[in-house]
Amino acid sequence: MSQTPAASTQSPDGPDSSDSELARFRSEVTVELVKHSAADSDVLWAARVSTAGEQSLEELQKDPERSKGLINYLMRDRHGSPFEHNSMTFFISAPIFVFREFMRHRVGWSYNEESGRYRRLEPVFYVPGADRKLVQQGRPGKYEFVEGTTEQHELTGRVMEDSYRQAYAAYQEMLAAGVAREVARAVLPVGLYSSMYATCNARSLMHFLGLRTQHEQAQVPSFPQREIEMVGEQMEAHWARLMPLTYGAFNANGRIAP
Ligand SMILES: Cc1cc2nc3c(=O)[nH]c(=O)nc-3n(C[C@H](O)[C@H](O)[C@H](O)COP(=O)(O)OP(=O)(O)OC[C@H]3O[C@@H](n4cnc5c(N)ncnc54)[C@H](O)[C@@H]3O)c2cc1C
Repeated sequence: MSQTPAASTQSPDGPDSSDSELARFRSEVTVELVKHSAADSDVLWAARVSTAGEQSLEELQKDPERSKGLINYLMRDRHGSPFEHNSMTFFISAPIFVFREFMRHRVGWSYNEESGRYRRLEPVFYVPGADRKLVQQGRPGKYEFVEGTTEQHELTGRVMEDSYRQAYAAYQEMLAAGVAREVARAVLPVGLYSSMYATCNARSLMHFLGLRTQHEQAQVPSFPQREIEMVGEQMEAHWARLMPLTYGAFNANGRIAP
């Protein structure tokens, strides 16, 4: 799967009537770990400096069970700051409605998103996949999602694609007439894909995951929108590989950020 939207055959703003036909429809999200400085030893360093001052890595590795126990204790008793001395930068490509929810996470996150002012936005749009539950039942706070019928899936795909094409054609028409990108983009829908860099640390990621994923070990269940959960699940998989002890302690303690 490519993180790069469909390439245009025309100049950035030039009239290009074929682009709305070239529109790409995606059902998945992209999450790449761009760079990181994150390991369980970062947590141990930070925690032990308060009691033992500077220590060597060898010393930390001498007693793995003690290290595991210390991380678990910090998690359980919600001593959160030792989990902040690490960093993970993700490239994320997802629909705008996902970013709108994502950027509500203010603490311990840095964001940079592609610009709709400095470049033409590419026609890449979200359409739910066949496994996306389509129908909501019950009332807010106490509802569940169930599969849609084949007809509902067909209708959703068709109506979304038509609507996206129409919106993108309007965008192109304005650009071709010389209207600024920052004005013309107003007609584009929240199903349009955007991309961003998001940098966090393990503590802020745990807070995000506690709210934006569903998990059998979660002590406090959350009910996130499926598409942001898809992003969360991929970030979680990267993080689990980098910091297995911290990840294990997070799950063992009910997935509540310390
Ligand atoms: C399932 C779900 C449904 C949601 N529905 C809606 C909705 O309908 N409408 C809507 O507007 N939002 C909604 N949200 C967003 C939600 O209200 C939060 O904005 C979002 O989850 C970010 O959480 P946060 O503020 O804890 O995170 P962060 O902004 O990262 O903050 C982390 C923590 O820092 C502390 N903190 C941060 N800022 C302050 C502050 N100003 N004052 C005091 N303490 C602070 C708090 O302890 C907070 O938990 C929803 C979230 C979820 C998970």
